[in-house]
Amino acid sequence: MHLLHPPIAIDIPGRLDPATTGFDFDGVIADTVEAFLRIACEEYGFCDISAEDITSFCVEECLPIQESTLNAIFDHITFEPLAAGLKPMTGAVQVLKNLSSLNRVTIITARPDPRPVEGWLEDICGSRICSNIQVLAVGDHDDKERFIRRAGLRSFIDDRAETCLALCEQGIDARVFAQPWNRSPHGLPVLSGWGEISHLIL
Ligand SMILES: [Mg+2]
Repeated sequence: MHLLHPPIAIDIPGRLDPATTGFDFDGVIADTVEAFLRIACEEYGFCDISAEDITSFCVEECLPIQESTLNAIFDHITFEPLAAGLKPMTGAVQVLKNLSSLNRVTIITARPDPRPVEGWLEDICGSRICSNIQVLAVGDHDDKERFIRRAGLRSFIDDRAETCLALCEQGIDARVFAQPWNRSPHGLPVLSGWGEISHLIL
């Protein structure tokens, strides 16, 4: 005789709800540091820098590159991401593809203009996936909370620990996407990459 048991609900600690989780763009979806290091080397001759040297989100604090050059590199990546060869983080496209088939995905970026990100997404992910992803450009690292609330999100993934700490104080379930510049102790949950996000959200 077989005893029938009700299905066991699997409770994954730290689980993320796909309908209410939003994402930062640079350093989370896009491998911005790869583009930065490549351009710094190929166009400006700074070839002795690695991602591990970027120990602060304010790169001018930890890199021997003058501010005008840093601004030129970031402007290139910000306004011409496709021309800059900006690549997605490993695993990001597949998870975005899966999520966008479930519900609308929201990206909230400190960039000033959503259009370069939208063009990049269309090229990288394809127009069908892209049509269910909205990009909100805040223009300020410290002003994401109201956009998160307006989009109906409860969780947010960002690589800037300062942003995550502020969001956490404002009642948002903020998770830090692991990067060399956010390793200082902050006490927030850290996501190691898109494999872990996929595990927690799908
Ligand atoms: Mg970022």
